[in-house]
This record gives sequence, C-alpha cells and structure tokens, in this order.
Amino acid sequence: MDVPRNQLFINGRWETCACDRFVDVVNPSTGELITTVPDANSDDVDRAVATARASFEKRTWRGIDPSKRERILWNIGELIEKSRDELAVLISQQSGKTPREAAGADIVPAADCFRYYAGWVRKIYGETIPVDGPFLNYTLREPVGVVGAIVPWNFPLQIAAWKVAPALACGCSVVLKPSELTPLDALRLAEIAAEAGLPAGALNVVTGYGETTGEALALHEDVDKISFTGSIDTARRLLQCSSVSNLKRLSLELGGKSPNIVFPDADFDAAMKSSFWGVFGNKGEMCTAGSRLLLHESIYDRFLDELAARARKMRLGNPMAPGTQMGSQISARQMDRILDYIESGKQDGARLLAGGGRDLEGEKAKGYFIQPTVFADVKPEMKIAREEIFGPVVSAIRFHDAEEAVAIANGTIYGLAAAVWTRDVRLAHRVAAELKAGAVWVNTYNGFDSASPFGGYKQSGFGRDLGSYALEQYTNVKSVWIAL
Ligand code: NAD
Repeated sequence: MDVPRNQLFINGRWETCACDRFVDVVNPSTGELITTVPDANSDDVDRAVATARASFEKRTWRGIDPSKRERILWNIGELIEKSRDELAVLISQQSGKTPREAAGADIVPAADCFRYYAGWVRKIYGETIPVDGPFLNYTLREPVGVVGAIVPWNFPLQIAAWKVAPALACGCSVVLKPSELTPLDALRLAEIAAEAGLPAGALNVVTGYGETTGEALALHEDVDKISFTGSIDTARRLLQCSSVSNLKRLSLELGGKSPNIVFPDADFDAAMKSSFWGVFGNKGEMCTAGSRLLLHESIYDRFLDELAARARKMRLGNPMAPGTQMGSQISARQMDRILDYIESGKQDGARLLAGGGRDLEGEKAKGYFIQPTVFADVKPEMKIAREEIFGPVVSAIRFHDAEEAVAIANGTIYGLAAAVWTRDVRLAHRVAAELKAGAVWVNTYNGFDSASPFGGYKQSGFGRDLGSYALEQYTNVKSVWIAL
C-alpha cells in the first residue's frame, strides 16, 4: 500500500498532522489493523482550508485554460482506471466488500465521473438576457469557492468522485474528508490527482472522526459549501454547524428505505435476480438498497420461497477469496446495529425465511459477517419496514393493488429510490409518477450513470449529485449589468 502512515495530503504533498490522536483502520473481515491515519484536529483542518483558499484566490487551478483543466480531469479518470487492481484491494481491505464489487461500484464509476466532468469544464457558462432599458445584461457562472466534501464508507471512492469531480470542473478548491473507516482510497485519490497534473492545493484530504475533523470543516468560517453524503443524524448536525458559522451552503445525500414493487405480470426471473442483488449486493450497505420488497399477493409466496433459497446459498467469506459473493459488514458497530434490527423484526412477529444472525463459521468468526436475511409478513408499521437497516436484510410486504402499493411505498420519511416491475407500460408510468423518490427504476434496479442526477426527496436530502444538476451545487450565478 502506497499511502503513508499518519499523514495528511495537503498542498500537493504528504504532511505530518498537528494532531496527537490517530484512527485505527481495521480490516473488517479479519479484525486486523491495516494502518493508522490522523484524527485531524481543527489546526489541521485550518491548514487544509487555508491551502484550498490560497489555491482558489491565486487561481492556481481555476485560472488554468479550460482545455488544460479538461485534460487534467480526464487524466485523473484514466489514472484511477489504471490503478484499478491496487485500488480494488485497498477498498476491499478497508470495507469488507469484494474487489469485484470495489471495481464495479467504486473504481469504474469514479473514473467515469472524472471523465464525464472533464467534458463539462468548457461548457459551464452564463447567458445574455433581454432586459428592459439601455442595458446589456449577462450572467456569469462562478465557482462557489472552497468546498468541503464529507463522504461515507459504503462506496468511498465513487461518492468522493461524485463531489470532487464536479467541484473541480467548476473551478472550486476542495477539502475532502473521507469516513474514518475508509480513509485510504481518498488519500490515494489525492495522490493520483497530483500525478495527473492537478496543481497543489486544489484537492486536500483530511482524515479523522466526524466529531473532530468533520465538525471542524463544517464549522469553518472559510468553507463556502459542504457537500455531504451520509446519515440523517449527521445531516442535522451539519445544518446546525452551517447556521452557527457562516451559513455555508449545503447539499445533503442521505439514507433510504427504498420500495421495490413487483406486480404479478413482471418478468419473474429478471425481478428475482435484480431484487436479490438490489438488497444483498455490497453486503446490503447501500443507500439505495431495495430493503422493502413489495410483492403482489398472487406472487408473494413463490417469489419469497425462491429469494430465500438464493439467500441461503449465498457464499459468504473472505472478500479476497475467489468465489466469495458477500464479504463482511463494515464494522462491529454496524454489525451490532443490523443484528438489533433483525431481533426487532423477530420480536415484532415478522416471519424469518432465511438468515437471521451472524455467520461465525471458521475464519468468519474473526470478522463481522451477517447472513443474508429475508423477513416475510412484514407490516408497514414495523421498525424493520420503517428504518434504514443498512445491511443484508429484506422486509417483504404483501399488497393487493397499485394504489395500496404506492401508499405503502410512500409511507416512510425517506425518498431516495424506488423500483417498479411490470410489463404494463401505463401502470409503470403511473406508478413512477406517483412515487416520492429521487430515482425510480422500471424493470431494473440500481441504474446509475455519471450523466444522470442522483439525490433524494423528503428526508433523503436535497441537492443533486451527478449530471449537469451537480454543477448548480458548485457555482454561483452573477448577473452583470452594462449601461449602454
Ligand atoms: P455518517 O453520517 O455517520 O458519516 C458520513 C460522514 O460524515 C463520515 O465521513 C463521518 O465521519 C462524517 N461525520 C459524522 N459525524 C459528523 C459530524 N458531527 N460533523 C461532520 N461530519 C461528520 O454516515 P455513514 O455511517 O458513514 O454512512 C451511512 C449513511 O450514509 C447511511 O444513512 C446511508 O444511507 C447514507 N448514504 C447515502 C448515500 C446517498 O447518496 N444518498 C450514499 C451512501 C450512503
């Protein structure tokens, strides 16, 4: 591993932190210590923000010709892809996901995201507006300034790219704060960006816990914007931090409890396969996990029998071993949280069809493995149908007709994603329109593309990552009036 111990990446180089506390980075599939990273304190964050500010004001990045900036962002994408094997191992070791999942859901999309926003660099501009009077009025789209990007552990590199790539494309300077559980790929990303030609100071990485490093960034008077992905509780804290500091702007990508609705005329096999991976992929640690499976009463038993049989056959184990389909949960804390939810499902009277506990077989006893778990006969008011579990647990709910399915689907505080399975095109469009969610998939699950916006309705957040919509997050609009 190329990432040095106990260093931060500030001003284009590795720097020793001012802090005296460190974070253990642990491999969750073995419980072994990988390395330690700084728990950056407010002095460290100050230094990173001051560097980003200096880079912004001296125009060391945004002052470069757009065609050259385009090439640098493109090169970052290329280098990410070239470092695919190394990054896959790095992400797998920290997160417990398989290298295949890391490649497919972190590295390839992160590389694509940088290349996509490379294409935007020369296309971000204002307009001329026909105003009354002897005036020329036009708008400029200007970078917001210093962006703090605070990201979670479940897709650490992909979500970092969702923030860093558009922010840089708009000409901002960035301080990236990865999750304390998965800091190494963010540090490596900063190194890759420097190798690709990004000037020093445009991308800085501070590692540490949320309460120390994250809050120092969120409270900082010289950070213009925080782009955040994570939990609702942290989002509430970030809103407070903004309100007691400089009213920095926020965009918030939060949790989900996504309904996956299967109508009786659906392509059964396709719905089965996608529903399975839509909740058990990435160990169920997906904000978009199809964790509420809404099944029409006429297919309910058949669908669940097959889903449970597949879940029982899933191969859990060392993520690095060939053939492993599911690795370990991210941490002991996350595992305990998931086990508590499983217990609450049992207590509330849901019927357990598969899984239901830890997998302690052999070497797995050293890590945080949970059996893929299927609950039937779940009622919408149960905790396992309302709260985000963020693990390999699916709650199946029976419905009678489309109206009831939509009412159940919309009956949580979340609105991140949803899916509909039917061959009836009218039904598909009607239900897609009625679902309160930022993404609706019809006859597919987890469709993502750098060009298509992603974000939440309701308490799943506000603001959008990806596509042209993300550019709104990182630019200010200035209206210029010239008297003629
Ligand atoms: P989290 O909110 O605990 O942490 C996210 C990040 O915020 C981490 O870097 C953490 O260190 C930091 N943080 C924590 N407390 C902070 C504070 N007080 N001030 C500033 N920063 C702080 O979330 P998590 O456990 O890392 O991730 C899981 C959550 O993320 C789930 O709810 C999941 O649904 C959500 N998520 C959402 C999306 C999306 O795009 N909508 C994607 C992935 C994950």
